Amino acid sequence: MARKDRDRFLRRQALQPDYQGFRGNTAVPRRTPSPETETVVCSVCQRRRNVASDSIPTDRSSYVCLSCQGDAVSD
Ligand SMILES: [Zn+2]
Repeated sequence: MARKDRDRFLRRQALQPDYQGFRGNTAVPRRTPSPETETVVCSVCQRRRNVASDSIPTDRSSYVCLSCQGDAVSD
């Protein structure tokens, strides 16, 4: 790296602490909050299903999984 370029780089880095050259944009930390799920037994097929906590009915024994709900509709 030419000295002039290096000086320019350092000066730029001083102005923008986040500046890391061309690699700066590739490593963006990403937080994907995983939704909370719980295991509920479907009252129709008796299979265990991982269900998002906020879609579990208050009465867990009445839970019907999505595929069973689909069957009910087509029946
Ligand atoms: Zn089911």
